Amino acid sequence: MKNKLKILITIILLVSLFTVSSVKSDSKPFGEYKYIFKVNQDGVNNITIIYEAWRNGDSWLLLPKNFTKYEIKVLDGEIIHEKLEKAYTSQGDEYVFYSNYTFQYRANGKFMMKITYMMKYGSIIVEPQCFFYSPQIYFKSEDRGVVEIHLPRNIKIGENKIIPPPAGIEEKGDEYVIKINLSQNIARIAIEYTTENPYNPITMRRGIFTVETPRRYRELAERILETYNFFYENLTKIFSVNLTDIRVIFYAPKLEDLWTGGYVPFNGKNLGKIHLNLIYVRTLKGYWEQIALHELVHHFVYAAGITPDLLWFHEGIAEYVSITLTTQIGWSGQLSRKSDLEATAQTLYPNYGFIQDWKPGRKDENIGKYYAAAYAVVKALADENGGLEFYRKFFQEIKDLKNVTTTDILIHYLSKAAGRDLTNEFKEWNFRIIRIENISQIIVEGRNIVKMKGLLGVPWSLIADEILNLAEEALKNGRTNMAMMEAYMGIMIAQYSLTLTTITICIVMLILIGRIKIEELYG
Ligand SMILES: [Zn+2]
Repeated sequence: MKNKLKILITIILLVSLFTVSSVKSDSKPFGEYKYIFKVNQDGVNNITIIYEAWRNGDSWLLLPKNFTKYEIKVLDGEIIHEKLEKAYTSQGDEYVFYSNYTFQYRANGKFMMKITYMMKYGSIIVEPQCFFYSPQIYFKSEDRGVVEIHLPRNIKIGENKIIPPPAGIEEKGDEYVIKINLSQNIARIAIEYTTENPYNPITMRRGIFTVETPRRYRELAERILETYNFFYENLTKIFSVNLTDIRVIFYAPKLEDLWTGGYVPFNGKNLGKIHLNLIYVRTLKGYWEQIALHELVHHFVYAAGITPDLLWFHEGIAEYVSITLTTQIGWSGQLSRKSDLEATAQTLYPNYGFIQDWKPGRKDENIGKYYAAAYAVVKALADENGGLEFYRKFFQEIKDLKNVTTTDILIHYLSKAAGRDLTNEFKEWNFRIIRIENISQIIVEGRNIVKMKGLLGVPWSLIADEILNLAEEALKNGRTNMAMMEAYMGIMIAQYSLTLTTITICIVMLILIGRIKIEELYG
């Protein structure tokens, strides 16, 4: 009995050992992708993808659809079936720039395949700032992936500036080699770094526009000059104003501002150069142009007399006009921006009033909500009142005015352009508003009362008049709340000027009588 048990245990052990060793001998049950990115001094990324597997199987990966050409070479084994199809993100959206390449292979001990392609704007370089952004990495989830990024040696990479974190960085000859083991089958590698190469920009000029660019991006500068000059005349008609000298400068993003497409600095007195983030040239035609036009619209809106403090209107109209114009011309890149804004706005509806407190320089984590709400308000008004033509009328209305400083004043002129009062619509969006028509009316009524009371009301009617002047001044300068208070105070004093004057006279008389009495006593 004991012996039989021993034999049984031995057999079980042997079988299990055999099973374990059989798995071990076939130690790589998956294929492995190795992405090698070689980036030169101009940011060009030469990409090699090597796929290796040790038994027959199949796999898939993303390959460029339209932005560059690729080459596939089988080095070991053979491909027995392959197909190129549409590729989808994990959320089910179709990739604009990538196809799904699916292949079935025979290993003959080993299968090895090499894919090569080139990405012109692999790293964006505006010296000293550089930004590497890999193509989309995505492959069959059963396979594994490693990445190697080769960068020139005359660069500096700060701490935590490589995403995802690397397994190691080696110095090899005139290169840094950064190694990353992918924990997932989907990834984008981002690296922020600086170069020691000097910044030697060229400037290109056409019309009123000047672009400053590193020489390597002169065709991008050309693209901006062309876009700006193409839309310029139309924009002058919409905004009823000409611009004289617009300067544009390119920049490479940092990790923290990767998602900002561009900006125009404001020093309190003037709008500065238009700054454009070059990473967005890696988008569908229309996307980068929309960003560029958005920034240009800020200059128009400012020249038309609207202060940057009215930020929600600046951003809303910049988005609306740039999206509308790029769509009219038939581009499509901007449509993804449009649908993002609309989807976000939908979640906020009808509570858009919070954008009233949006001021320049304030950073908010949910900045996307502000843009979406601002766009939604500007677009809704356009849709109801005649599209771009409505804003053309509005800017005609405020031509030569330089005091559109608050939402209250803005609504006053928007209503004029619409030919109807828009106050209630803004109230439904939960804006806090004071109708400035009311204030103006109170001031006019107050003045009439002052006139009616004539000399009888002096000196209080004169004081009322002075306060009404202050109210008018405040209204002009956009201090609507103060204007409202002063207007009410003015009209009240004007109404009671007779009574107040009578009381004043009585008081003066009493004091005088009192004095006489005192003088009589001590005289
Ligand atoms: Zn903007």
